Amino acid sequence: MSRSTRYEIPDAGRRTFLARTAAVAATGAAAAAGLGAAPANAMPETDNRKFMQEATRLAIESVEKGWGGPFGAVVVKDGEIIGRGQNRVLLTGCPIYHAEITAIIDASAKLNPKAILGSEYGAGTILEMIPREPNSPDKLQERARMLKGCEIYVNGAPCPMCMSAIYWSRLDHVYFGASLNDTSEIGFDDAFQYQDFELPWVKRRITVTENFERDTGLKAYRAWAEKTDRHPY
Ligand SMILES: [Zn+2]
Repeated sequence: MSRSTRYEIPDAGRRTFLARTAAVAATGAAAAAGLGAAPANAMPETDNRKFMQEATRLAIESVEKGWGGPFGAVVVKDGEIIGRGQNRVLLTGCPIYHAEITAIIDASAKLNPKAILGSEYGAGTILEMIPREPNSPDKLQERARMLKGCEIYVNGAPCPMCMSAIYWSRLDHVYFGASLNDTSEIGFDDAFQYQDFELPWVKRRITVTENFERDTGLKAYRAWAEKTDRHPY
């Protein structure tokens, strides 16, 4: 079996046809049952399967070129891909070169003209301040926009590092294909990290010394707190 056969991406046209047929059938069944024409899992207006296919294409490229594990990601804004990432741990020797991280960096670079970084943060950049959602428990009323309004598509479940990156980015929606279990079955063990995070510091798999020279560390916090022109994010 050749690689291209083994990792074949489902044909886009065929999948779209089948999905639309299913949606029409669901609508018809709902109407027949007197439930109206709004099935719970109606097709989105944009056929977002193409984004998962692009994430998977990036993942396969990484495998075939020997760049890293089978993981790819795209960030989408208003129906358009604005960031692409693929696992390149083997190419770079960098253990955190994950698809989601690089897709987020790519999208941020696209949305932030380099000239404004470190100086002013104008309207339309990801550092523009916007109000928090109503009833947000956040102490601050405003935060930087980041990638709010965008979605990320990943061919496999995000590891905890990438999931944290997604929180930091304020992405609205994560679509992932393969499960953490599927990932374990091909030899990548990141499921345990989710469990480890739930434990107290002293029980983590990696030795953690907490409160080590806390007063020293806090000097940087004071520098931030005392900076009158700081830009919260
Ligand atoms: Zn990751």
